[in-house]
Amino acid sequence: MTDTFIVAIDGPAGSGKSSVSKEIARRRGYGYLDTGAAYRALAWHVLERGDSTEDPSAVLAALDDFDLALGLDPDERRVSVGGVDVTTDIRDTRVSGAVSGVARVPAVRVRLNEMFRAIVADSGLEAVSIEGRDITTVVAPDAPVRILLTASPEVRAARRGLEMAGQDAAAVAEALHKRDASDSAVVDFFEPAPGVELVDSTDLDFEGTIEAVLAVIDRATGGSNGH
Ligand code: C5P
Repeated sequence: MTDTFIVAIDGPAGSGKSSVSKEIARRRGYGYLDTGAAYRALAWHVLERGDSTEDPSAVLAALDDFDLALGLDPDERRVSVGGVDVTTDIRDTRVSGAVSGVARVPAVRVRLNEMFRAIVADSGLEAVSIEGRDITTVVAPDAPVRILLTASPEVRAARRGLEMAGQDAAAVAEALHKRDASDSAVVDFFEPAPGVELVDSTDLDFEGTIEAVLAVIDRATGGSNGH
């Protein structure tokens, strides 16, 4: 992708990939790019314009007028659209329920992937962990470290339910599985592509998952290149 050392991490909703990718970045001094935040920000923008993400022409119109700012600091993750801070709003169930609509528009994926490459190239950072659904296969297929992070559907629903305390557990699980079903029709993030390492966190706690991912990174780099 660039000269930047890339750790590419894909996985379904609730797999823990955001927390894990962020923590890896902190511990190793990498930048951190949350590509899902860009898709969410675009969905927010479509809704803000009073349109539906189920309407591809409305999505394309919003894309033409999409002024996204996405930070790479794992401790200061601000997302803004046209200068409006949407960091919190893009996590709303309203946006989560609408985001798959923007993600299935091919032109959106092409444009966002260009943005991701530009963000990484312009950062001047030595290393970045990038998380999403198609990072190991489309965005950075040549990355030296490519990981698919999974967990059983029950564990993913339970973890997401904890994050969304106060909400009905069954509704959280249903929304998560519905989103995965729509998203996986666009890109396969349940099976690792050739050369992609599978890390299954079903029976691992957070620290165990971090250690498993760091072990993959160290194996890929021989643990000796300072990353
Ligand atoms: O990772 P997160 O759950 O925040 O992603 C939000 C949505 O963005 C996903 O449900 C999916 O529709 C879309 N997405 C994608 N490709 C990526 C990252 C996210 O299609 N690389």
